Amino acid sequence: STERSLNFIEQIIEEDISAGLHDGRVLTRFPPEPNGYLHLGHAKSICLNFGLAQRYGGQTNLRFDDTNPVTEDTEYVDSIKADVRWLGFEWAEERYASDYFEQLYNFAETLIQKGLAYVDESTAQEIAAMKGSPTVPGQNSPYRDRSVEENLSLFRQMRAGTFPDGAKVLRAKIDMASPNMHFRDPIIYRIKHAHHHRTGDTWCIYPMYDFAHGQSDAIEQITHSVCTLEFIPHRPLYEWFIEQLAIFPSKQYEFARLNLTYTVMSKRKLKKLVEGGFVTGWDDPRMPTLAGIRRRGYTADSLREFCERIGVAKRDNLIDVGLLEFCIREELNRTTDRVMAVVDDKPIKLVLTNYPEGKEETLHIENNPEDETAGTREVPFGRKVYVERDDFMEVPSKKYFRLAPGKMVRLKGAYIVQCDEVIKDETGEVTELHCTYIPESKSGQDTSGLNVKGTIHWVSVAHAVPAEVRLYDRLFAVENPAVEEKEMESDDDNAFLSLLNPTSLVTVKALVEPNLADRAVGSRVQFMRKGYFTVDADSTPGHLVFNRTVTLKDAWAK
Ligand code: ATP
Ligand code: MG
Ligand code: MG
Repeated sequence: STERSLNFIEQIIEEDISAGLHDGRVLTRFPPEPNGYLHLGHAKSICLNFGLAQRYGGQTNLRFDDTNPVTEDTEYVDSIKADVRWLGFEWAEERYASDYFEQLYNFAETLIQKGLAYVDESTAQEIAAMKGSPTVPGQNSPYRDRSVEENLSLFRQMRAGTFPDGAKVLRAKIDMASPNMHFRDPIIYRIKHAHHHRTGDTWCIYPMYDFAHGQSDAIEQITHSVCTLEFIPHRPLYEWFIEQLAIFPSKQYEFARLNLTYTVMSKRKLKKLVEGGFVTGWDDPRMPTLAGIRRRGYTADSLREFCERIGVAKRDNLIDVGLLEFCIREELNRTTDRVMAVVDDKPIKLVLTNYPEGKEETLHIENNPEDETAGTREVPFGRKVYVERDDFMEVPSKKYFRLAPGKMVRLKGAYIVQCDEVIKDETGEVTELHCTYIPESKSGQDTSGLNVKGTIHWVSVAHAVPAEVRLYDRLFAVENPAVEEKEMESDDDNAFLSLLNPTSLVTVKALVEPNLADRAVGSRVQFMRKGYFTVDADSTPGHLVFNRTVTLKDAWAK
């Protein structure tokens, strides 16, 4: 809503606008590295960056931060663009950090010429050893005082491919005693003979993040460059490069990254889940990726609402996934039709012994009590209906108001029925309930005078359409996988996999109302008493598949 108070970045922008900075122009960017699919954390960043621009009449660039040739791929570029659009945003320009390779290279030569960068051929271990620690000053590299000419010549040879990977690096010459470790002659270029998804084999040297990000911001004249808190110690370096190169003064601001309970949001970990077959893909409905959450049935509106509600924090925190679920539940409660699905591998058949053989009725059942414009739909009713096994108890407990021998219950939208006889198979399992129905108790025209406490859903046996229902739950069994992983103190990169929730997916058979047979993939409904469901991409007319988006109530609430 527009009534909330300004977040700290909005305050900064409003001050900048009043001060006439950049003539009041606001240009933000969303800078994903195309090395995986976008997740909910990225959604937060997208909503923030695009939201700021919208609020202040500005624009946002989509910039692929593709400076690492080894991990990047066009598959990811395409999915990222689709995801940003799905969230409801359109960028001003599509940019690639790799488009700036030549310019970044020239910036590096400029630094060399100013005596502010040098080629170092120490090994990675030597460089690390000379770095010192926050309390111990580092040592100067023996290569630190090469002449400008020598540095230029070596750097050009680096570019030309004269040296193998790792043989040399280009470092900024700043201060090996700086309390900020990022100022201790940071590496700005490394040699990597690798094919890049866009520039091919043109380059065999690639700029490091710190040398690419701020300069890319400056090249695009980004006014407010928003990133997550871990980049706070990088900010002085970001500013140092801009100052030394005398380029556009973009400014970096940091906010707390989104962390969510019962999941992980590192692309590296998500990739392990995909590659290890722990999920069916990046778009598995249990994944916190936008592709996954979309397939799960979440709407873009609900995600934007979620991002708005969590706000913009300056300190790291952990958001309860219950809030995300609340946002989608609120929306689906307003927007979805209530339909009936008997979600049960072994439903029970109800036979209404006094209902005429061969008779059928068409009932008109209200689609959504929350929305009077939603109208009604036709639901066929007959002598035999399926109900869920859970809706019957042979020996009912005290507060059980559903079916039990001798007890009455209302079949939703239809009649009151009374359970007369329990039919079992040879193993003693209940297979059928013989009931009598009360003809004058029809919903909407009930003159029976009976008052029953329970209403259950059902599906006509003669009209039921079989379906597969995928009941999704939280991906991890523990609230904070990142913390639990640390506590395990394991050297094993895969240790977090032991924290997965073994029952995050339970597949159940169902019998659904016939009018669900032709719903489009992605359409959403409420299965009465069960939750909100969406038609999965795997669904075909002959084999319906529904995903549970979210339960009706927060089953995990304490
Ligand atoms: P990951 O750790 O998942 O690989 P990343 O930060 O390396 O994430 P990028 O593709 O570089 O991924 O991120 C693009 C933008 O999204 C960056 O500005 C980054 O700060 C932001 N971002 C990434 N994760 C989150 C998060 N959990 N919360 C908020 N913003 C995030
Ligand atoms: Mg990154
Ligand atoms: Mg990363």
